[in-house]
Amino acid sequence: MKQLSEKVAGIAPSATIEISNKAKKMQREGIDVISLSIGEPDFDTPKHIRDACIDALNRGETHYAPSNGIPELLTAISDKIAKENKFPCKPDQVIVTCGAKDAIYEGMEAALNPGDEVLLLTPAWVSYEPCVQMANGKIVKHAVNQKTFQLDDSILERINARTKMIVVNSPSNPSGAVFDAKSMKLVADLCEDHDIYAMSDEIYEKLVYGKEHISLASIGDMAQRTITINGFSKAYAMTGWRLGYAAAPLAIIKEMSKVQQHSVSQATTFAMWGAVAALKGDQQCVGEMRREFDCRRKYMIAELNRMGYGTAPADGAFYAFVKVDGDDMAIAARWLEEGHVAVTPGSSFDAPGWIRLSYAASLDRLKEAMGRIERVGGN
Ligand code: PMP
Repeated sequence: MKQLSEKVAGIAPSATIEISNKAKKMQREGIDVISLSIGEPDFDTPKHIRDACIDALNRGETHYAPSNGIPELLTAISDKIAKENKFPCKPDQVIVTCGAKDAIYEGMEAALNPGDEVLLLTPAWVSYEPCVQMANGKIVKHAVNQKTFQLDDSILERINARTKMIVVNSPSNPSGAVFDAKSMKLVADLCEDHDIYAMSDEIYEKLVYGKEHISLASIGDMAQRTITINGFSKAYAMTGWRLGYAAAPLAIIKEMSKVQQHSVSQATTFAMWGAVAALKGDQQCVGEMRREFDCRRKYMIAELNRMGYGTAPADGAFYAFVKVDGDDMAIAARWLEEGHVAVTPGSSFDAPGWIRLSYAASLDRLKEAMGRIERVGGN
């Protein structure tokens, strides 16, 4: 038989999904595995959002909708961006996608030509590199400072004439770090000085603890060259709804729209009505979830430090990023097999020697997990 696609064969499967599958298999075998490996809030979607979706279904919102999204949602997103993210954005500069992941993929397809270089700041979330590969781009990696998790001038060494785009993810998955104004300004300056596009994945913007979230597109003229990625999965506990969006200059949205029209067509019509309720409704639910994550964060970091583990600055998202002494893959495997705690080795994020623990689990389960990790050891 003829060989299947070399491009796809060269793409690694998602490490986070693989580990979660292994943990689920152990659970099916009757083992009480505590899963701290996947980036999913443990809360259910707030009721007013579910109700809005059910109402939409019941009034017949079951047909095709405009490919970029229903006008009500595009307007709600552009209003939210102007108010909260502080950059100009008209409804036609927004595209609603099947999750933020789809927006990232479409953005890469829209922007890249074969061989274009995309600068990826590591540690980096698992899907950026495959999305660049699928769009025939070439990844160039640059590690952030391993203590502060911020940027400095050394990034300039990675820039050359082929550099087309830089990917920024603040708050970061996996490190939980939040870029300060200096790091953001550095990115903005290098994009403007070297004519580079930016993709700014801000999906964790609502989960910031005591720091300020800065939208890259709000700096200088960055709105003219930035694809801002966001969505509903993390802020409103809507992972299974598969709803995300991108905001970008019209020329980029038009290209992304073609990718969308010929692949998924559109995000699910009635789900989009839930998203309208999420953005226009009471935001108390977001604050409540953030407060709960903050409690768990404080517990996790204090407990890990007490056990002798160093941790990255956990200023955002819902991850503790933990320095381990030894092979992170082997330690993560031991924690799963002997301690029955599923975590993600840093090597999956280009950060060997680190392990990511998601604290999107109840405090009781986190306490149980910490006890198991202490028993099994790894430092
Ligand atoms: N970006 C980052 C940094 C993420 O952690 C995730 C989810 N793990 C996504 C994007 C994708 O989110 P969605 O569920 O909206 O596709």
